Amino acid sequence: MPEQRRPVVPGSVADLLGGVVPEWQERALCSQTDPDAFFPEKGGSTREAKRICARCEVKAECLEYALGHEERFGIWGGLSERERRKLKRRAA
Ligand code: SF4
Repeated sequence: MPEQRRPVVPGSVADLLGGVVPEWQERALCSQTDPDAFFPEKGGSTREAKRICARCEVKAECLEYALGHEERFGIWGGLSERERRKLKRRAA
């Protein structure tokens, strides 16, 4: 079964994929919002997603998960794909 990548919003792609949800994702603030904001089109705004992440109590867990799973797309832990790559380079 594939691992769930985001809290399940009924009817969303995540819902269709199904799977295991890590414990921290149950407390994810983005589970109560529009998931599309976290996966903007190329060049689209990340502002709304980052604003939500800033208030999320599992931001650290989320970022750690994204870095550990080499998540390439979307906003995770308040960081964009490019910002996560930068962070990884700095840590190497
Ligand atoms: S930090 Fe952002 S992307 Fe991660 S769980 Fe919280 S709201 Fe969702």
